[in-house]
Amino acid sequence: MEYCCIEASHVADLGRMVEPGRFSCGESSCDLHSRDQSSHKACRPRMVIWPLCQEEVSRILFYADEHVIPVTAWGMGSSLEGNPIPVSGGIVLNFSTMNRIIRVRDEDFQADLEPGVIYQNLNETLRHRGLFFPPDPGARATIGGMIGNNASGSRTVRYGATKDHVMRLKVVLAGGEIMELGTRASKSSSGYDLLHLFVGSEGTLGIVVEATLRLSAIPSEFSAAIASFDSAASAAGAVFEIRRAGLDPIALEFLSIECMELVAREMGIALKVSPTLFMEFAGASAGYLKDVVDTAGEICRENGCLDYESGIGRDRRDRMFKARHSLGETIVRNHPDRKVMTTDVAVPISRFPSMIAFAEQESAATGLPRYMFSHAGDGNIHLVLLGKKEDEAEGCIVEEINRKIVLKAIEMGGTATGEHGVGIGKRCFMEKEHGTSLGWMKRIKGLFDPKGILNPGKIFP
Ligand SMILES: Cc1cc2nc3c(=O)[nH]c(=O)nc-3n(C[C@H](O)[C@H](O)[C@H](O)COP(=O)(O)OP(=O)(O)OC[C@H]3O[C@@H](n4cnc5c(N)ncnc54)[C@H](O)[C@@H]3O)c2cc1C
Repeated sequence: MEYCCIEASHVADLGRMVEPGRFSCGESSCDLHSRDQSSHKACRPRMVIWPLCQEEVSRILFYADEHVIPVTAWGMGSSLEGNPIPVSGGIVLNFSTMNRIIRVRDEDFQADLEPGVIYQNLNETLRHRGLFFPPDPGARATIGGMIGNNASGSRTVRYGATKDHVMRLKVVLAGGEIMELGTRASKSSSGYDLLHLFVGSEGTLGIVVEATLRLSAIPSEFSAAIASFDSAASAAGAVFEIRRAGLDPIALEFLSIECMELVAREMGIALKVSPTLFMEFAGASAGYLKDVVDTAGEICRENGCLDYESGIGRDRRDRMFKARHSLGETIVRNHPDRKVMTTDVAVPISRFPSMIAFAEQESAATGLPRYMFSHAGDGNIHLVLLGKKEDEAEGCIVEEINRKIVLKAIEMGGTATGEHGVGIGKRCFMEKEHGTSLGWMKRIKGLFDPKGILNPGKIFP
């Protein structure tokens, strides 16, 4: 695609569309929007704009489309596959200035939000009303970015991913048209499901300027348990059995021995250092929960569990979750001389033990530092493999392991990306995963964005 060579006149035109202070061509602003949290190559935009309302977004997109200037939406830039990197330069729209919780509709379990709302802030507001928005990617992330990547997290096993919570969207299309999608009804059979086409589209079809999200009630009782196993294989085996028993955990996370060693050391938590399942259950009564947790314990013991600790208090549970959520950052901090590569595949739950075994075997053979953790209940596996920075040979080994794991997941009927999105990093696997339907995705992209100005260079090989 041939994009416009941005001249001083374009800069001046765009600068006039927003108040001073919400537009910058400065080096530091452009640098800050040149990379996400991945190791993908940084690319600077030509300018950053902080819009305040949907009309401003519409005017900017109208202008950008007319002049064929690339536009990339930006939430917090916490993506792990290069999703918001403006690879063709142009404009970055940073949504931190559109961060209003417009209305919480307690009576309908819904909230209307601007895209720049940070989900942790939303949940802090909702807590007092006994409600919450369940998908929790862990990193600080915006609702717009979560919709862009169809993010999910440790509670997805029970509550679903972001897409399961998006009921209504207002999006601005490439030419500036503002389109509303979806309804406030909790179900609908009305027409093509265009709404969900936009969820997970990484800002390549349109830009979200408002969303109505489905909320859940905070359960009255929680109970957590930690099960330590003699091997990753036996821990993985227990996951299937827990799911099959219908215990319906709200979190079912796997941490490898390397992760447990790091968590115990870094967080000062007394933990058994062995492959571990961290589980959380919720319900209306303590009695019911005790039965559930006891049954989970029996299943774990039958699957080679060495130690099962249940009835974990809120404080310890919160510390465990915090440790789990900050694992990514903890790994980076502990290996300042190494480049981080995080795989993100998901497989059918029956294939989870085989996938864990494959990733274990392949990564062990490299001799490189490695950490495996997983939203096990969803069959979603992350392997962090660390090659030395500037060491090309180690970089190639890491890439090759990632490639092998992704291809294995696809071969098992799974996906190249469980939750981080395609971005730049997973483009090369799209054909393998989607076959001829990739051609239809391209046609859809062409229909909504014929000049290819929206987040170019993403998703498609
Ligand atoms: C330590 C760490 C742990 C993580 N753990 C998880 C995890 O468990 N699960 C998970 O799913 N992810 C995880 N992530 C990845 C990331 O946090 C999520 O994908 C998150 O949803 C990205 O949100 P963001 O606000 O940072 O979006 P950004 O990274 O800024 O953008 C994400 C994508 O959405 C697009 N976008 C942004 N705003 C809009 C908008 N208004 N309209 C349309 N498109 C838009 C962008 O162009 C981009 O393509 C993790 C990241 C880190 C650093």
